[in-house]
Amino acid sequence: MIPYGRQIISDADVEAVVAVLRSDFLTQGPQVPAFEQALAAFCETPHAVAVNSATSALHIACLALGVGPGDTVWTCTNTFLASANCALYCGADVEFLDIDPRTLNVSVPELAAKLEAASAAGRLPKVLIPVHFAGLPCDMAEIAGLARRHGVAVVEDASHAVGARYGDGSPVGSGHHSDITVFSFHPVKIMTTAEGGAALTRDGALARKLALLRSHGMSREPEEMRGAPDGPWYYQQLALGYNYRMTELQGALGRSQLPRVPAWVDARHALADRYDQELAGLPLLLPWRGSPARSALHLYVVQLDEERTRVSRRHAFEALRAGGIGVNVHYIPVHTQPFFRERRAQSLPAAERYYARCITLPLHAGLTVEDQDTVIARLREVLQ
Ligand SMILES: *Cc1c(COP(=O)(O)O)cnc(C)c1O
Repeated sequence: MIPYGRQIISDADVEAVVAVLRSDFLTQGPQVPAFEQALAAFCETPHAVAVNSATSALHIACLALGVGPGDTVWTCTNTFLASANCALYCGADVEFLDIDPRTLNVSVPELAAKLEAASAAGRLPKVLIPVHFAGLPCDMAEIAGLARRHGVAVVEDASHAVGARYGDGSPVGSGHHSDITVFSFHPVKIMTTAEGGAALTRDGALARKLALLRSHGMSREPEEMRGAPDGPWYYQQLALGYNYRMTELQGALGRSQLPRVPAWVDARHALADRYDQELAGLPLLLPWRGSPARSALHLYVVQLDEERTRVSRRHAFEALRAGGIGVNVHYIPVHTQPFFRERRAQSLPAAERYYARCITLPLHAGLTVEDQDTVIARLREVLQ
């Protein structure tokens, strides 16, 4: 099976992890802080807090921004479950936004209208979580302007977008248009730490809160304590935190992977350009590539063009899988999940229509041209 996504592990990655195994610290040593510094520098931002998954990063991002019972968080329905669950972990509610059918990211006009209506009704969300779907950055300048006008905090779910750049050329994660940006280092994403994630911010106080929440809410800093420390052994719990720490093995792997991200994004672009050319004549809607932003191209998603083919998505999916092509579907709109539908019935037609027709083709930096040609040939057979 040619997978839709796959990690790349070099000998240097293996050596970096093995060196940690032979060292004094398997957790809470020098590797994770060094990875955090490298990641912050890569993203041109002052603070990165590494954690054990993007799911954890989204949870503590919401907590650090004060999300709690009685609050609502908004996110785009075309995403993975975790972008919504973080609100519920905090005892808050979640509401979903529809997509722009061209970008497949949150629809900015719909967001603007919904914010106006919520403001009039006194039901503004506490936090908005735009998702950079498939690695294509949302128009964050627009979104930040709307959020600022209504006093709503913003967490970018950039799980797909390590190595992407906004339209102005600044790296995703630089944080000029949001409070916190979250990355995932799951193996199918742009770079990996096996499991892992990070929360980045320009705000030192938020970074400190994130670091506390990652590790039991405990502090060893005398200036943060209520009253004087009992002695040099003393720590104090200042908040209800978790154990969301990244291990030293993961930190070392992340440090070793990070410098290769730009080359991997370039490789994804070259492969996507080939797909664009080779698939142009088929009855497919190809991904929109006209944005001034530079996508990290985590996913290459095509949609069956119903006006030009009678092949169903289900048939195409099953035939491709039977032919050894590891196609996938990103995403089942989260608002249609029974768990969420039972809480709030929503109809989001653009995302539902997109979902009915979408197929994710294999795309990753290690995909060979030969394997890509196999994907293209099978797709031609299935659609003709
Ligand atoms: C993968 C993903 C997550 C969760 O990442 P983990 O690191 O697996 O917890 C969250 N949001 C989006 C959009 C994702 O694709």
